[in-house]
Amino acid sequence: AIRLRDLRKSFGETTAVAGVDLEIRDGEFFSMLGPSGSGKTTVLRMIAGFESPTGGTIELAGQDVTGLAPFERDVHTVFQDYALFPHMTVEQNVAYGLKVRGVPKSERLVRARQALAEVRLEGYGARRPAQLSGGQRQRVALARALVGRPRLLLLDEPLGALDLKLREQMQVELKALQREVGITFVFVTHDQEEALTMSDRIAVFDQGRIQQVGTPAEVYERPATPFVASFVGTSN
Ligand code: ATP
Repeated sequence: AIRLRDLRKSFGETTAVAGVDLEIRDGEFFSMLGPSGSGKTTVLRMIAGFESPTGGTIELAGQDVTGLAPFERDVHTVFQDYALFPHMTVEQNVAYGLKVRGVPKSERLVRARQALAEVRLEGYGARRPAQLSGGQRQRVALARALVGRPRLLLLDEPLGALDLKLREQMQVELKALQREVGITFVFVTHDQEEALTMSDRIAVFDQGRIQQVGTPAEVYERPATPFVASFVGTSN
C-alpha cells in the first residue's frame, strides 16, 4: 500500500499541496482527478521522488521513503510525452529499463520482447520511435515501465496527447493491462470520464486538497462536496 500522511508542498508563495492524507491499496487502479493546478501532479511527483515534500510523509509497502531518491523506490513513472530515446530502437528503449537495474544482457532482450508482447507490439522491436504512431509510442513507454515489474506505476496524464478515439481505445487497453499484470497504477487526469471509466477508486482534488475518495459510483452518485458534484457531474 501507499500511505500519504499530511503531505504538503509549497513553491515559494504558492501552496501546491496543502495537507493530503491518502491510502492506496495494492493492485488498485487509483486515479487522482482534479482541475489544472489542483496539485495532483505534484503529489504524483512526490510519490515518485522527483519533488521533496515541504511536510508530511510517504510510505511505500510499509517503508518510509520520504527522503529516498527516485531509483530507491521501486516505482516507475510514465509521462505524457513518453520520453523515449529517439536514437534507440523500440527494443533497446524497453531493455534500457533493465540495464539500469543490472539485469544481464541475454535476459534483457527476452524480457523486452515479452513486455512488447504484453502491450501488443510484437514485431515492432527494430523500429525507432519516430516510425511509430502516437498510440504505439505510448505502448512502448508502458512496456518500458512494466518490463522491470515495479511495485508501482505512476501515470501522469499518459493519454493526454492522443486524439479522442485512440484515447478511448487506450483507456480500455490500459485497464486490461493493469488487471493482467496486477501492479498498482496511480493515474493522474483532469478528465472525469476517463477517471470514472478506468478506476477502482478516485481521489478528487481541489486547491491542493482531497475533496473526496471513493469508487466511481460513490463519487458520481454521492458527491461529498459541491465542488465534487460540479466537477464530476459536468463534462469539461
Ligand atoms: P495540471 O493538470 O495542470 O498539471 P495539477 O493539478 O497537476 O495541474 P500541479 O501541477 O500539481 O497541479 O500544480 C499545483 C500548483 O503548484 C499550481 O499552482 C502550479 O502552478 C504550482 N507548481 C507546480 N510545480 C511548480 C514548480 N516547479 N514551481 C512553482 N510552482 C509550481
